[in-house]
Amino acid sequence: MTLGEVVASRLRSPDFDRWMAGAARVGFCSNPVRLVGSSATMDGGTGEVLREFATSRQPDGLTYVRCGNRRARRCESCSHEYKGDTWHMIMAGAAGGMKGVPEGVAEHPMVFLTLTAPSFGAVHSPAGSSRRGKCAHGIDRGCRCEHAEGDAVLGDPMCAECYDYAGHIVWQFFAPELWRRFTILLRRHLARELGLTQRVAAEHVRLQFAKVAEFQRRGAVHFHAIIRLDGVSETEEFPPPPADAGERELIAAIRSAARATAFEAPLVPGEGTRRILRWGVQLDVRSIVRREGLGGALSDRAVAAYIAKYATKATEDLDGRADGRAHVRRLKGTAELIAEDDADGAYAFLGKWSHMLGFRGHFSSKSRRYSVTLGSLREARRRWRLDRIIEEAREEGHEIEEVLVVGSWSFAGMGWLNEGDRALAMDAARAAREWRDARRVQFNTKEGEKDD
Ligand SMILES: [Zn+2]
Ligand SMILES: [Zn+2]
Ligand SMILES: [Zn+2]
Repeated sequence: MTLGEVVASRLRSPDFDRWMAGAARVGFCSNPVRLVGSSATMDGGTGEVLREFATSRQPDGLTYVRCGNRRARRCESCSHEYKGDTWHMIMAGAAGGMKGVPEGVAEHPMVFLTLTAPSFGAVHSPAGSSRRGKCAHGIDRGCRCEHAEGDAVLGDPMCAECYDYAGHIVWQFFAPELWRRFTILLRRHLARELGLTQRVAAEHVRLQFAKVAEFQRRGAVHFHAIIRLDGVSETEEFPPPPADAGERELIAAIRSAARATAFEAPLVPGEGTRRILRWGVQLDVRSIVRREGLGGALSDRAVAAYIAKYATKATEDLDGRADGRAHVRRLKGTAELIAEDDADGAYAFLGKWSHMLGFRGHFSSKSRRYSVTLGSLREARRRWRLDRIIEEAREEGHEIEEVLVVGSWSFAGMGWLNEGDRALAMDAARAAREWRDARRVQFNTKEGEKDD
């Protein structure tokens, strides 16, 4: 059968609508898990069965569960859901007033920090460069081209022979360690700014942060973080810090801690000296402004929304087009080479991360008390579904307090049953995406009109 015939037979099948409803339930996931089994939802008090679900009564005798992959290249739908959750998590911790985080957090001293990688050699950039002269290979040191937006060479080295590929890979491999050291130093430097010992400071202030990693065009990650000052309390979950621990002290501590952060990387085979890893000189700290309605100044929520949106963009993998770039291939090759040469050493596992250009950290992470967790958002969705069942049961006259779900499932495979089903699901996903984007355009236009 051709693909067209497979699709047509699904479209003509009497249970097509039910199949489609099942595909919609997993958000038209690209690679769902197929399950066989059944579950019963019961009244928690009496044990009376309220709802029954059995795959034997479903189309093809199956049910589907989302793949949950965070990468858009693997699954647009699941990565979109993950981004939405990340957005809510970051937003709740910055603006408060949602998902169980109190409004008051928006009043805490709070900044948006960007930490970059240092330079490993001049690259083509939209802003150009003031470097003059030519390198030993006869190539301009600075970029004076006029690059259009999205130009393929942006982020590529001016001279690949001069570019420090090993330095780039080593820095990226230890970037999570650099971040860890930065957070330790930040606590120490904040105590100093407050004129306290670290032990006393720890009894009064706590640093909360949400951080995301993002790949720049040159293939180096940089980190964006929201850093918030909280107080310490036995009873409150998000206590305000003492009045003398303000934004000024926080910013000063961030600046000095970032400058002081260093890590001596293990020796790369074949090299004579160990590299001292640091952050790049481009350090950006800005306060998250909380003025509402002051001469057109952005509101706290608008600023936090902007940051959260910007930050969730970063949960992306490397750019899908990156593989075609010689620069990216050389970075991967360098990672594999170092791993091979150091098979018993500190870089033994670097090869495992060559597809990430050496980066083995998380794309988003947060301190425990920054906000809600992604797990609690998933739990909230599950709770919402159970509450609907309780509501319906009450409408049907049941006196019910709690429900209990008992299920038995077994794995039946990965992905859609056949290429035809997959094509149908992907087509529906595309339509859903277009609908979503159309609504976004509408929304943005309205926002724009308000500004005029
Ligand atoms: Zn998926
Ligand atoms: Zn250029
Ligand atoms: Zn050169």
